[in-house]
Amino acid sequence: MSEPRQFLARAAVKARDDQHFYQLGKAIASYDGMVSQTKSRQFQNWTQARALAATIKDHVLARLPELLEQFEQNLLAAGGKVFWAETAEDARSYVLALAQKHQAKRVVKSKSMVTEEIGLNEHLEKHGVEVWESDLGELIVQLNQEKPYHIVTPAMHKSKAEISRLFHDKLQAPLTDSAEELTMVARRHLRDVYLSSTIGVTGANFLVADLGAVVVTENEGNARLTMACPPVHVVIAGLEKMLPRLSDLSLFLPLLATSGTGQEITSYNSIMLGPRHAHESDGPAEMHVILLDNGRSALYQQAEFREILRCIRCGACLNACPVYRAIGGHAYNTTYQGPIGAVITPHYSGFGKYQHLAYASSLCGACSDVCPVQIDIHHLLLKNRRAAVRRREQPWFWRAALRVYAWVMADAARLQRARRWLLRLWPWQRLLRRPNEQLPPLSPKSFRELWSAHENQP
Ligand code: SF4
Repeated sequence: MSEPRQFLARAAVKARDDQHFYQLGKAIASYDGMVSQTKSRQFQNWTQARALAATIKDHVLARLPELLEQFEQNLLAAGGKVFWAETAEDARSYVLALAQKHQAKRVVKSKSMVTEEIGLNEHLEKHGVEVWESDLGELIVQLNQEKPYHIVTPAMHKSKAEISRLFHDKLQAPLTDSAEELTMVARRHLRDVYLSSTIGVTGANFLVADLGAVVVTENEGNARLTMACPPVHVVIAGLEKMLPRLSDLSLFLPLLATSGTGQEITSYNSIMLGPRHAHESDGPAEMHVILLDNGRSALYQQAEFREILRCIRCGACLNACPVYRAIGGHAYNTTYQGPIGAVITPHYSGFGKYQHLAYASSLCGACSDVCPVQIDIHHLLLKNRRAAVRRREQPWFWRAALRVYAWVMADAARLQRARRWLLRLWPWQRLLRRPNEQLPPLSPKSFRELWSAHENQP
């Protein structure tokens, strides 16, 4: 079955699943409540804060090559290493080579969508290196052999009872309905993982050019342990994560926390300035930053799509999207789900396979309304539809049908004739229908006829 058909099949199953709808609705309702309270408490003017963030990100994009080089020079001066990865394969190979060089048997990883994007875990495990997720949500989906459900809250679809059963089966923990006890199970399990891993892998929420700094923001303290305990720290970050100055964090950290989880500020915010220095008592002996392209340069070069590189991966557009709320994250079968995923996935992974995602939208614009960096997401979905047409990625019969449609719609007399034909042929549509499919009857009168009858009413 083709990817679009599989998508429809998965979406249909989830859309009818009441338990799933309840679980997701509950999680998103709690998020919505926190976001609206925090926005008004934290920002005097949310609209201006978003506009400023968008402007800073646009400046970053205008100077991106220069800022990336500035970041590289500063990090090298602080003793770090930088690797420019053009493709996912380049990034995976670099990490594997490091693991082999250090004879690493075990790697610990904090939550990072970019490592999902490049398929890092699968690659390392294929070559005999064990990988453990240290974020609680990521650990849950890893133990259940699933992909993250959401770019910020990877296990939002799981109930407490399901997590308890999973920990019981996979970590031999007693069954419990206490969230605190479940957290302690993960914590006890991960303590040994931090201490026995040779490499800690993290993403980066931001890269700061003027310091050569890597900024990681999180709520569990696991990323901090992932960076500090193993002797080697590897950061994998998309090229677009750049900010020019340290002072920009005063806007972007609260903005990300508010849109991502409804917090004023995330619990742990780490700024890494290279590996452990001579006067420091802890931290990794080596720090490697992999700057990942993997399709971002191609997006950067298309002026009409460049704004998507402002994205700070807060996940707000997923929570606002009526389609995501109905079908959940796994229906997309992509690393990035929801509106942001529907925009970038065809560019990163191919229009041929993923162009249908541009239609997984009501185009209501809720995603654009909530985006903290003012990305016009729903219009980018329309641009993706147009890009797919230009690339001639759609099936020939679809293109032919659209041509006929455009020709008919361009002329009122043609439209009237087409309508009469359609009315005559309509009874035959039942031969083409799928079982249990009901199409609404066609109106015997055209809109013009209905309108003039309406106008002539006394
Ligand atoms: S597109 Fe906007 S709302 Fe969606 S994840 Fe990115 S920054 Fe957040």
